[in-house]
Amino acid sequence: PYAVEYRIFQPDGSLRWISANGQASFEGAGEARRAVNFDGTVADITDRKRSEEEREQLVGKLREQDVRKDEFLAILAHELRNPLAPIRNGLQLMKLASNNHEAVEKARSMMERQVGHMVRLIDDLLDLSRVSQGNLELKRERVELAVVVRNAVETSQPLIEQMGHELILVVPTVPIYLDGDMSRLAQVISNLLNNSAKYTERGGRIRLSAEQLGSDIVITVEDNGMGIPAHMLSKIFEMFTQVDRSLEQSTGGLGIGLSLVRRLVELHGGSVQAHSEGQGRGSAFVVRLPTAMSVAEIRRDNIEPEAGRLTPRLRILVVDDNRDAAISLAELLSILGNETQTAHDGLEALEVAQAFRPDVTLLDIGMPKLNGFETCRRIRQQVWGENMVLYALTGWGQEEDQQRSLAAGFNAHLVKPVVLADLEALLAQVIAVRA
Ligand code: ADP
Repeated sequence: PYAVEYRIFQPDGSLRWISANGQASFEGAGEARRAVNFDGTVADITDRKRSEEEREQLVGKLREQDVRKDEFLAILAHELRNPLAPIRNGLQLMKLASNNHEAVEKARSMMERQVGHMVRLIDDLLDLSRVSQGNLELKRERVELAVVVRNAVETSQPLIEQMGHELILVVPTVPIYLDGDMSRLAQVISNLLNNSAKYTERGGRIRLSAEQLGSDIVITVEDNGMGIPAHMLSKIFEMFTQVDRSLEQSTGGLGIGLSLVRRLVELHGGSVQAHSEGQGRGSAFVVRLPTAMSVAEIRRDNIEPEAGRLTPRLRILVVDDNRDAAISLAELLSILGNETQTAHDGLEALEVAQAFRPDVTLLDIGMPKLNGFETCRRIRQQVWGENMVLYALTGWGQEEDQQRSLAAGFNAHLVKPVVLADLEALLAQVIAVRA
């Protein structure tokens, strides 16, 4: 009897696993001549093989994670103990030289630095476990990029100075806004700056630039340091991964900073990538984040006045309980080449929006049945409404009214009577972003 497993290629090129059982028949001097199958089976076992392979891969992955976890624990113990030695020395020094004011002051400031370092390590650890468990909540608000950058630089400056690096800052002069958590965004940038400071030889150059590209904000942290080998470029964002784990090379990190950076950026709807030409050739980290859109930051002088007329064709829903107002605005917009519909209260707006799926909805706030804020909130809860461009259209123009609109989920707050050129500029922006 025999049992074999083998692979066959089917005419379409796909691979299948076959298991065959049968009987060999022998001739003459006991040489096997034929395989007789009629009392055996030939079975396609591709599925079984595949799940075996998957299981093996999974086991391999778990084993790898286990090894990384063990390495991490060793590094963690090492990195946490590192600052303890100077702190203990400092305590000893203060005891022995308590009368020497200068020595005590020196020890105190050294201990402060080391405690600060430990706190940072522990904070990173806690943050990472929070994101891993999905417990990290962003305190979202409208923040200005320049302020985020300033906070980050403030945090990283001491390390950059300590290493004698030069920091070059290139940030736009016009304000750029994004919806995000100020301190988390600053943490992202300062983590990248700290890495550049750590992985660049003393006296290096670090460049932090930020610019708006389409609907994205692109933040780049570049250095002329030790660089990253190509095969590690994507791996370094994984938890506990470091290019060089030898303790001699230790720079006081745990290999979690970049995974934290990636998680935080992703929570903000963005992405991060590493670039390097290789060892010794510097590194660049590029973070992309979506910008927030609002009337305030769309500078009229940045937009071609005729742009709206030349590139029309958005689907626009105009909602106003004042029928004349809704219909006349819709008419204007369709003369400009857009496809429009109207609704006259919040509930009708929801129905029409669901069927019409507009690119842009202009919503009056004070309306019967369902006011504009609530209508906006409900649209935002729909899958089709998540990315819709929603503009509040109201008679209320105070700062707090604007804030209320943004909190309800509007992209911008327009004050009636809306200036057509302003609206056109906004729509041109929407078209540019979608293109
Ligand atoms: P840590 O810095 O604590 O080791 P990170 O997650 O911040 O952990 O970074 C992971 C690894 O990526 C680092 O150990 C280092 O090998 C590499 N790395 C990060 N930033 C840079 C950089 N700017 N230049 C060179 N290597 C870097």
